[in-house]
Amino acid sequence: MSDKAFSSLPLRPELIENLRSLDYTSTTPIQAQSLPLVLAGRDVIAQAKTGSGKTAAFGLGLLNRLDVKLFRVQSLVLCPTRELADQVAVEIRRLARAIHNIKVLTLCGGTAFGPQLGSLEHGAHIIVGTPGRVEEHLRKGSLKAKHISSFVLDEADRMLDMGFEETLNKIVDWLPAKRQTLLFSATYPDAIESMAKRVLRDPAMVKVDSSH
Ligand code: ADP
Ligand code: MG
Repeated sequence: MSDKAFSSLPLRPELIENLRSLDYTSTTPIQAQSLPLVLAGRDVIAQAKTGSGKTAAFGLGLLNRLDVKLFRVQSLVLCPTRELADQVAVEIRRLARAIHNIKVLTLCGGTAFGPQLGSLEHGAHIIVGTPGRVEEHLRKGSLKAKHISSFVLDEADRMLDMGFEETLNKIVDWLPAKRQTLLFSATYPDAIESMAKRVLRDPAMVKVDSSH
């Protein structure tokens, strides 16, 4: 499938305008394949190599659904490491520049717990974090899952490699059943397939070959 102009997609005008100012002139191949499904509300499994633009593929999806007036956590993005979570948060904030008062918060291990409690009390729309710390906040009640309607597993293959499967299962148990779930990965080993069966509902599958 060839790349598309972002303006041909059912994105909010302010997001399209901002993409123009970021010099994102057209979609990357994985964005062209996955965004129409993501924007239609489907659960999606997307596989493409590193550097192919996967962050915007899910980031635009959750930003397009977000109700900024509802100051509750509506999206949860899980990443394998703090460095990756920080990168994803930076990219989502760039994509969200045109949405006023939007709050993207990172919750990662290896950083002090106390300040995260204060930040959560101030509120956020989007959480980007690592599984262990996110599970801890859900368990302790400092992160409320009730309004989470988009859930993203980014670099799912690496999260499973790092032994996060059980923690991911616990996190999923906290989430509302009615939600959109997106799984992004560079590879698609069997372990992901069995997790996907538990976590996603009737997922669409898209893949961009690494030769492209
Ligand atoms: P991945 O998660 O697949 O490894 P990233 O989401 O980190 O890839 O994107 C890689 C780089 O490509 C980032 O610097 C990002 O800003 C840039 N990028 C993503 N989508 C586009 C686009 N449509 N046009 C131009 N640059 C893009
Ligand atoms: Mg990525």
